[in-house]
Amino acid sequence: MTDKVFSNLFLFSVEAIVFGILTFLLWVYYRGFGRQYVRFWMVSLLALCLNHVAVTLQLVSFPNVVTTPKQLLYQAIELASYYLHISFLLLGVFCAVKDNQVSKKISWSVTLIAILLGIVTTLLYGFDDATVFNRFYLRESLPAFLAGCALFAASMFLLSLESLHFSSRVLTAYCLIVGVRQVLFSFLSIISLTQDWFRQLTDILVFIDIGANTVLGFIMLIWMQGAERNVANSAINRVQYLGKHDSLTGVLNREQVLEKLPLAMESSLSNEQKLIIFNLDIKRFKFINDTYGLKVGDLVLGEIANRLNKSILLPKVVGRLGGDSFIFVIELLDDSQQERAAEHIHGLIGSPYQIQQQEVHLQCSIGFCVYPDDENDAEGLMKQANLALFHAKTHKLSTVKYEEGMQSQGRHLLEMEKDICKGIAENEFILYFQPQLNLISNRLEGVEALIRWQHPEKGLLTPAQFLDDVETLGLSSEIDNYVLDKSCQTIADWYKKYKRRIPIAVNITAVEFQDPKFVAKIQALLFKYDIPPTCLELEITENVVMTEVKVAMDTIVVLQNMGIKVSIDDFGTGYSSLAYLRELPIDKIKIDQSFIKEVTINDSDLTIVKSMIKLSHGLGKRVLAEGVETLEQLTLLRNLGCDAVQGYYISKPLPEHGLKKYLERK
Ligand code: C2E
Ligand code: MG
Ligand code: MG
Repeated sequence: MTDKVFSNLFLFSVEAIVFGILTFLLWVYYRGFGRQYVRFWMVSLLALCLNHVAVTLQLVSFPNVVTTPKQLLYQAIELASYYLHISFLLLGVFCAVKDNQVSKKISWSVTLIAILLGIVTTLLYGFDDATVFNRFYLRESLPAFLAGCALFAASMFLLSLESLHFSSRVLTAYCLIVGVRQVLFSFLSIISLTQDWFRQLTDILVFIDIGANTVLGFIMLIWMQGAERNVANSAINRVQYLGKHDSLTGVLNREQVLEKLPLAMESSLSNEQKLIIFNLDIKRFKFINDTYGLKVGDLVLGEIANRLNKSILLPKVVGRLGGDSFIFVIELLDDSQQERAAEHIHGLIGSPYQIQQQEVHLQCSIGFCVYPDDENDAEGLMKQANLALFHAKTHKLSTVKYEEGMQSQGRHLLEMEKDICKGIAENEFILYFQPQLNLISNRLEGVEALIRWQHPEKGLLTPAQFLDDVETLGLSSEIDNYVLDKSCQTIADWYKKYKRRIPIAVNITAVEFQDPKFVAKIQALLFKYDIPPTCLELEITENVVMTEVKVAMDTIVVLQNMGIKVSIDDFGTGYSSLAYLRELPIDKIKIDQSFIKEVTINDSDLTIVKSMIKLSHGLGKRVLAEGVETLEQLTLLRNLGCDAVQGYYISKPLPEHGLKKYLERK
């Protein structure tokens, strides 16, 4: 072994160890940092380590005979690992500066190509001792040329980017210098392979390359330390920002509003102006989330925050209190401008939003209060604005100004809300059943389910005592679903116990009837309790039909096709007309009890009832009279041709065991 070989051997083996250690350090970084480019550079350094091991092994074993299979294997490893080193170095650079992810498919393809290139260029002329030149070109000139071009291109790419930091400048210089060195070397190796000076140059290049590679390893380490620091800094900044701002919209969050509001109050006092605290809530925002997805919902919230911030009223505070509720605070001199300011906000929220090539319109409810008229501290003001907003929402008003007395009403509703939800969860609501008598067959034609609340403290409550609050609180759907479920369960129960199918009529509110999932819910219930659709009847009021004629019409048609009967409850009290009902495939019209009450003594009531029966029959609908309390009323209605009756004369609404007795008596 000559001195030169020995010194090379020493150098390469030491370098292999150095790159091995660097690979290990990168692996440690990768575990904590988890970035793709760190993994690529780790692979790149590992490949470089392998490359040096392969060179060392070649130097140790038979340095003069190059065509033994072992030597060829080392050669193949050397080449393949070199190609891998360069490709993964560049993939890593790309990911690091572009912050992009490279797909697994690409990285595996690159690996495969590098390995194949290494093997193929080793095997070509591999066993032919006479073709040393060709072999040299393939094993030295080609890799140098390819790597040189790639590194040169990478340096140009890095130079084209803006704001290079220190480690990326060093990396650019590295790519440029090493790139030019490799390309020049590949040309020189072709022209002057046999020249003495070229050999000397090659000997020197070994040292230069080793130095350059070491520099590269350290560039990677410095780069990652910088990146780690950047990530930590931006995380700290973000945490500080999020602490103060709403992460979704960039406006202040609740805490920040509470901090900023007192300052605005102070400045308004010194300006001798009033501060108006608007609390707004976007109507039907859930619809946006449900229809377009949460991401679009977030964008819309951001847009709303943006519009509020840029308002010409120059808001002192804009914040989001969570969900779709915003706070908007302005200074105003004149009380008469308050309503106009509210109109302005309605205008801001109301102008269309462009979502996925569609125009979406939103509306909001506004509650507001005035400083210093209403309250003296920030928290109190927020509470009052919120109470006014609550009032606006529950009474379906667009703008409400805070007034005294809202507090107690709000408190009552909040208590009711808690109570009702608990009542539903704990099954405190029960059903009473009122029989409906068929006047033609003189037999029971079904029962109406009427809700009662067995309140743990207040005793048995009738619908009049809680249904208004249920509606105000927007819990009608919950109650309707509860009653529907119980009714279907009862139909199934009675069939099991008495082998009798007794149809149950259930009252349905407008909100529930217009729910797009209503029909599906009914189907699910019929399936769940295994009951025929003819046993279920639905009672809706005229107003349900009239508010959304098209929706109601479609739903009734679908229900009728399923075999479920729909009747119109409290007929005559709403604002529909029989002409409208003609189009609807409803089964029965229930004349409201107010017409029946004095039908035997009041001529005009008699005329109305008579014509209702006549007209309904003319349209092919059946008629049921509600609130029949006397035999006289019953006889009269029978004579008028009424099809069915319901009322205290037949039976009061009965609890389940009471109905059982009633049926047994009959
Ligand atoms: P409705 O659907 O018109 O129910 C008939 C109401 O008239 C019942 O009052 C019933 O007890 C009462 N009634 C029946 N016969 C007579 C009578 O001969 N004389 C008098 N004076 N009243 C009679 P209730 O049970 O207090 O229900 C009142 C209203 O509450 C119902 O009117 C219905 O609109 C609503 N409601 C009751 N239960 C439910 C329910 O489960 N869901 C929904 N959404 N609403 C319900
Ligand atoms: Mg009813
Ligand atoms: Mg009724």
